Amino acid sequence: MKLFDKILEFFNPQGIKCVVCGTDVQKSQHGFCDKCKKALPANDHVCQKCGVDIRTMNDFCDMCGKNQLVFDEARSVCRYEGEAQHLVLRLKFSGQKYLSKPIAHLMAQVLQKQNWQFDAVTFIPASKDTVKKRGYNQAQLIANDICDIINAKVVDLAEKVKDLPPQEKMDYLGRFDNMKGAFKLKQKPPKSLLVIDDVKTTGATLNEFAKLVKRHGCKQVYCLTFASRVKQVPASQL
Ligand SMILES: [Zn+2]
Ligand SMILES: [Zn+2]
Repeated sequence: MKLFDKILEFFNPQGIKCVVCGTDVQKSQHGFCDKCKKALPANDHVCQKCGVDIRTMNDFCDMCGKNQLVFDEARSVCRYEGEAQHLVLRLKFSGQKYLSKPIAHLMAQVLQKQNWQFDAVTFIPASKDTVKKRGYNQAQLIANDICDIINAKVVDLAEKVKDLPPQEKMDYLGRFDNMKGAFKLKQKPPKSLLVIDDVKTTGATLNEFAKLVKRHGCKQVYCLTFASRVKQVPASQL
């Protein structure tokens, strides 16, 4: 562990201070005071397939109604907004690795409500360049922490082989095209899999990953992210 990480961990030991507001918390609260936990932008009524928060009483979002997403189900703790977004950015870009644990605890709570059976847990790989620059892949950190909580096995299943142009400015279908061939398997996938990532935006990344493992014999792919972006997709792109 780098000295800088050690210092951060010293000032932010698990269960001592709320990771959002800094007030004292009990160890059993796993890093969030009640107020800050409640203030996360919680999902309300979600699409039964991709887990995105939908503002209608339909079972499926427009995307899942019209598109064939390859993964079986996806769920997230909350919407990618406000403090949830801030937490992800801190974890990803400010070296605050200790945030993976409290995030993993919230994700494990969502996981326990699903009826998912899986043989192993994996994570969306980051490119070698990203890992070199950042020093870690936050999805892997979260997957490791979730596995500690639920006593499951993490497999390092794939690598990211394609350097992708930034996706922010791409439209919905562009993102799905852009992901094609992004990952390569390092080993044979298990029959059923739980895939962990920090954020789901369009679902294009998870979809591409699911396609790859299913082509190699995996039957069930479940996806769990901390946050998911609520996005309105123009009808012309569905
Ligand atoms: Zn707080
Ligand atoms: Zn959906």
